[in-house]
Amino acid sequence: MALRIPRGALASSLLVVLLVSLVHATNAREPPRLEMVTSAAPPGLTGSRARAAAAAAAACASWRLGVETNNIRGWYSIPAECRGYVSDYMFGDRFRQDCAVAAREAAAYAETLELAGDGREAWVFDVDDTALTNLPYYADTGFGAQPYNATYFDEYVANATAPPLPEVLELYEKLLALGIKVVFITGRHDYQREPTVKNLRSAGYHTWEKLVLKPSSLRLGSSVVPYKSGERQKLVDAGYRIVGNMGDQWSDLVGTPEGDRTFKVPDPMYYVG
Ligand SMILES: [Mg+2]
Repeated sequence: MALRIPRGALASSLLVVLLVSLVHATNAREPPRLEMVTSAAPPGLTGSRARAAAAAAAACASWRLGVETNNIRGWYSIPAECRGYVSDYMFGDRFRQDCAVAAREAAAYAETLELAGDGREAWVFDVDDTALTNLPYYADTGFGAQPYNATYFDEYVANATAPPLPEVLELYEKLLALGIKVVFITGRHDYQREPTVKNLRSAGYHTWEKLVLKPSSLRLGSSVVPYKSGERQKLVDAGYRIVGNMGDQWSDLVGTPEGDRTFKVPDPMYYVG
């Protein structure tokens, strides 16, 4: 026997289906809610102290992201409450992992280049906190929580003991093996050439096409962008093709000509405009 559905019942069923669909459609249009998830608390802390410590660490992580993305500019020292955070970051795995990501991406990019064979492809490196790390100096001076001390930093440079950033040194070796020339353009002054050469060599940077240091006549406190971009322009004028440019400050990377690609290594310790 055929199943007969009364016309009224069918209409009611369709109405229910339509209403359910409308509710689903309405719900589907609701924007997803962004819930704040509390960061992991430091070990040993519980309750409100743990929550406060986790919130402080999250605030410092946001500050660091703002610095790395160049959203926060012109700062003179790290926030005092972030001193512990920056110390943990710089001495922990995260800093090295972040450097490794930058160096790995740079190496992968370099491997894709088809070199012209005339030896004119150049890669520009900054020196301080790029090729070399000044972590020993900054660990002694509160990780940027204390104002920059030019006298002490000059002594540090004169000692020529800055270690290399291992990930950048590895990239440097890769670039040389590919046949790309290395040029260092540094904010160090020309009177610091001798300890800079000594330090680069002892750190493992055994050869380079040029080492450009900042003329002492340049006014202290002025932006380094005209100086660094101007030196890159001189390279281009001399026939080099800048295929890559790596630094720890945005002022190493911006300003025409930037280079075909730029790579920033992390530095939450200080700002150079
Ligand atoms: Mg630097």
